[in-house]
Amino acid sequence: TEMTRDKIVRDVKDNNVRFLRLMFTDILGIVKNVEVPVSQLDKVLDGKMMFDGSSIEGFVRIQESDMYLQPDFDTWLVFTWETESSKKGRIARLICDIVNPDGTPFLGDPRTNLKRVMEEAREMGYTSFNLGPEPEFFLFKLDENDEVTERLNDNGGYFDLAPTDSAENCRRDIVLELEDLGFEIEASHHEVAPGQHEIDWKYADAVEACDNIQTFKLVVKTVARKYGLHATFMAKPLYGINGSGMHCNMSLFKGEENAFYDESDERELSTEAYQFLSGLLHHAPAFTAITNPTVNSYKRLVPGYEAPVYIAWSCSNRTPMIRIPASRGLSTRLEVRSVDPMANPYLALAAMLKAGLDGIRNEMTPPEETNDNIYDMDEYELDEQGIRSLPTSLHSALKALKRSEVIKESLGNHIYTNFVKSKMIEWDSYKAEVSKWEKENYLHLY
Ligand code: GLN
Ligand code: MG
Ligand code: MG
Ligand code: MG
Repeated sequence: TEMTRDKIVRDVKDNNVRFLRLMFTDILGIVKNVEVPVSQLDKVLDGKMMFDGSSIEGFVRIQESDMYLQPDFDTWLVFTWETESSKKGRIARLICDIVNPDGTPFLGDPRTNLKRVMEEAREMGYTSFNLGPEPEFFLFKLDENDEVTERLNDNGGYFDLAPTDSAENCRRDIVLELEDLGFEIEASHHEVAPGQHEIDWKYADAVEACDNIQTFKLVVKTVARKYGLHATFMAKPLYGINGSGMHCNMSLFKGEENAFYDESDERELSTEAYQFLSGLLHHAPAFTAITNPTVNSYKRLVPGYEAPVYIAWSCSNRTPMIRIPASRGLSTRLEVRSVDPMANPYLALAAMLKAGLDGIRNEMTPPEETNDNIYDMDEYELDEQGIRSLPTSLHSALKALKRSEVIKESLGNHIYTNFVKSKMIEWDSYKAEVSKWEKENYLHLY
C-alpha cells in the first residue's frame, strides 16, 4: 500500500473528505490529534502544519514549542464511522512524525525514536522487526448520563458464545470496522474475565504495527460508545479477576526469511532467536517500566491471573514471561506476555528491540527453560535457580530502568528524562494515597 500525494488528493475528492485528522502519540502513549479542514490539504501534505509542542506531555520546553507535523502518507485512512454523524462529509487521518522548526526529526517523538532503533536493527542486517499484538480490553456499561460505571456488560468467559456474550454484536462491529480500515483480523473472542475481550490481527513491521495498535484502540473505543459501553485498556480494572495484557509476538526477518527459525536445532530455533530471547530476559527488569508503565500495571503482574510474575521462558508452559509458541517456519516467534495495553507501543517496541539486539550483539545464552512448577517454588528455590521476579511496583521498575544504560539508550535522552520525570510524579501522587484496603484492614484494628 504505497500511498502517494496524488492518490491522497484523488481520495479526498472521491470520498468527499472534509476534515483531516493529524495524529501522533505522546510519551504517555496517548493519541493526540490536530484536526484541520480539507482546505489545508496542501499545507498538511507539505509538512507545513505547525502545532504548539509545549502543550503536549513531555514534549518540549515553552521557549522551543513550535513543532511541525510531517505526515506519513502510508498511514492515510478515510474513517467510515464519521459519515453518519457528520452530514458535511468524511474525516480522514494521517499519522505524523514530529519535526523541529529546523527540519530535523524531533527525538522526543516516540514514533521517530522507534524508527531510530529500527535503524540499528537494519545495520545488523535485519530488514524487519515484526510484531503481532494481542490486546485485551474490558467493556463497561455507561449510565444514563454517559458516565462510565463499574458494571461489566456480560458474565461470559473464555471463548463463550451468545447469549452469555452480549457484547458479541459490539465486538463484531469493531471487527467489521477494523476490516474496513484494512486490518486483517485473525481472531476475536471473549476473554477469561467477564466483560473482557481480545482481538488479534496480522503482524506487521514495528512502526506500522504500533500505528495499528493506536488505530485499534481508537476504533474499539468509538464503536463501544455506540453500544452504550466504555472500552478500557487499563491493565487491571477490577480486583479479583484477570487483568488485560497485550502479548507481543515478535520476530526478526532478513528479507523473506525468519531469522528466528533454524530447522537443525532441537527446538528449531536459530542462535539469534536464543540470543534475542536472552537479551529480553536480561533486560526485563529495566524495560518493565516502559512495557508496564502505570501504578495499576503492577496489580496485574501477580500470581493467579494468567499474567507473568517471573522472568523465565518456556515452549510449553504459559505462565512464564516469554513463551515460544509451537509454530515454526515463517511464524517462528517469541511471545512476550508481560506487556500490557497501557504501554506506549512505540516505546515498548523500541525498548524490547534494543534488549533483544543487545542479546545478539553480546552473544548471550538463555537460562534453562522453566518447567511447570515455577509457582510452587518458594522464594529461596527461585533464587537458587536464578529465577528473578518482574518488578513489583512502578517505583522498583523505574529504579531498574535508571540503572540500565541499554534501555535508557532505547528511549534516547529526551524521552527517557521526560518519561521518568512524569512517572515519578505519578508514583509520588499514588504512594501518598490512603486506599480502601488500608481503611478496611487498619482503621478498626489499630
Ligand atoms: N489476561 C491475561 C493477562 O493478563 C492473559 C490471558 C490469556 O490470553 N490467556 O495477560
Ligand atoms: Mg491470545
Ligand atoms: Mg488473551
Ligand atoms: Mg497470547
